[in-house]
Amino acid sequence: MTKSEELFQRAVKRIPGGVNSPVRAYGSVEEAPRFIQGAVGSKIFDVDGNEYIDYIDSWGPMILGHNNQQIKEAVIRASENGLSFGCATEKEVEMAEFICERIPHVEMIRMVNSGTEAVMSALRVARGYTGKSKIIKFAGCYHGHTDAMLVSAGSGVMTSGVPDSAGVPKGCTQDTMIAVYNDLKSVECLMEESNDQVAAVIVEPVGANMGVVPPAEGFLQGLRDLCDKHKALLIFDEVITGFRLSFSGAAGYFGITPDLVTYGKIIGAGMPVGAYGGRREIMEIVAPAGPVYQAGTLSGNPIAMAAGLAQLKILWEDQDIYKRLYQKGELLFDGIRKIFKEKEVPYQVNSVSSLGCIFFTKEKVTDYASAKTSNTKAFSDYFQYMLNHGVHMAPSQFEAMFLSDAHTETEIQATLQLLQDYFA
Ligand SMILES: *Cc1c(COP(=O)(O)O)cnc(C)c1O
Repeated sequence: MTKSEELFQRAVKRIPGGVNSPVRAYGSVEEAPRFIQGAVGSKIFDVDGNEYIDYIDSWGPMILGHNNQQIKEAVIRASENGLSFGCATEKEVEMAEFICERIPHVEMIRMVNSGTEAVMSALRVARGYTGKSKIIKFAGCYHGHTDAMLVSAGSGVMTSGVPDSAGVPKGCTQDTMIAVYNDLKSVECLMEESNDQVAAVIVEPVGANMGVVPPAEGFLQGLRDLCDKHKALLIFDEVITGFRLSFSGAAGYFGITPDLVTYGKIIGAGMPVGAYGGRREIMEIVAPAGPVYQAGTLSGNPIAMAAGLAQLKILWEDQDIYKRLYQKGELLFDGIRKIFKEKEVPYQVNSVSSLGCIFFTKEKVTDYASAKTSNTKAFSDYFQYMLNHGVHMAPSQFEAMFLSDAHTETEIQATLQLLQDYFA
């Protein structure tokens, strides 16, 4: 038995499913999860001494690669002063200024501890600001595990969502309506059906939790227009895309201005951080400035701020990084397309810059329904081969591959070669 297998056996006795977040259990790919010892740059090492090229990157935060020296030093320096005070610190002001002075649509920002918390708070703010209660989300978009977002479409598309998890009462999801990604008509219908009671439309500006699904030409602008017309707020959930597609996220990349944004993952550089922000007049309704309550004992934690700010400063100062990430994305994902083309295997490769994924289907993947046509058994076979030959990818068809600045051309070529070998 490997050490990973041993650890997993111990883990399942004391942690539900053996993991602290479900995707880590490798349930859909029929493998035992690898327990990780450490990571450097683009490489990750398990407890059995295996080395992998890592395309999970902690689900995005490690955009500079693992164990970055400057970030590590910032964390060590900050920790010398104490781990938490539960009081205001200079680093929080610096973090807020650094973001707000560089991202035009973020005039004020509030730090929280996860993407889930950021979304939960942004929705409350949208409802408080507009005085309306309905929220439109898209099937296949993930916005964390807050009750109101754990919904799936009811039987009729035009109904309110139904709970997608045990333990979520109907009352928590009855104001959440589900639209179809890349389908503006579905949004417009819901807006009209709700008699203009929609407080906000929340969207992943690049779908990255149903595999990768890019926004169709005009989709994000269409959402902007519909929100303006119906006096709803547009919330970009940039927990994955923020600071990844550009410093100003997908909003900057596609040139669309949301009213509120949520951040997570990259903003904490690997520490548990989330944030939400937007226009001043909206954010000023948050307590204690205004009537919408939201709080956090560890929010703006000094170590987390030191880590996140160190990473954001590197990203800002070296903006060529976004060109490099784009080029690496082209190298990897175009490389994969080429291999598949020659093999005549049914596939789709969707990608936007450094995010991408393979779907094993003939159908173009533009929304959740088409994503689900993918042959997950084919994915699982491919995943197992790659894992056992040194490539660490998200253990699910419905997740993205993440490139970092630490991935080299040589490693990307090696990954492509492996894919060639798999089909040979
Ligand atoms: C990861 C993710 C979240 C949830 O963030 P957590 O930090 O895991 O709570 C929310 N939205 C999107 C788009 C995400 O990818």
